[in-house]
Amino acid sequence: METIFEKIIAREIPADIIYEDDTVVSFLDIRPIVKGHALVVPRKKYINVYDIEPDVFGHMIQVAQKVAIAQKKITGAKGATILMNNEHEGGQEVFHAHIHVIPRFNRGEAFIPAQHLSYESGESEALALQIKSLLS
Ligand code: AMP
Repeated sequence: METIFEKIIAREIPADIIYEDDTVVSFLDIRPIVKGHALVVPRKKYINVYDIEPDVFGHMIQVAQKVAIAQKKITGAKGATILMNNEHEGGQEVFHAHIHVIPRFNRGEAFIPAQHLSYESGESEALALQIKSLLS
């Protein structure tokens, strides 16, 4: 079954894309836990950690590292949480594999239940452009 991420990868719906190559696309999460929260998504459809090819997973992690470094420079974050939810029981909502890269400003943020935020009009586009400028 097609997910929203295939539509983003196919450019059928918009997203704030910050990085792309032949294997992955990275864009800002539409409901960020912290502003600048990004997802790293393989172009090819895998469901999650249980079916993804190891070399693709390895590349996703390498891109997640680059995204975290760019996010830190642009947002002034002090840290980052990099995570992947797998299966319904593991918190997964979109069944196309993805890694979350979440900038962190305060230690406590990592230990409280996530509250999703929303961006003001134009805010995510501007932030995505800034992060993207460090990733090309
Ligand atoms: P997960 O619970 O790990 O499956 O997370 C899925 C993430 O995808 C959530 O954090 C959503 O906010 C995010 N998401 C859903 N739809 C979109 C979209 N159209 N653009 C960007 N992020 C999205």
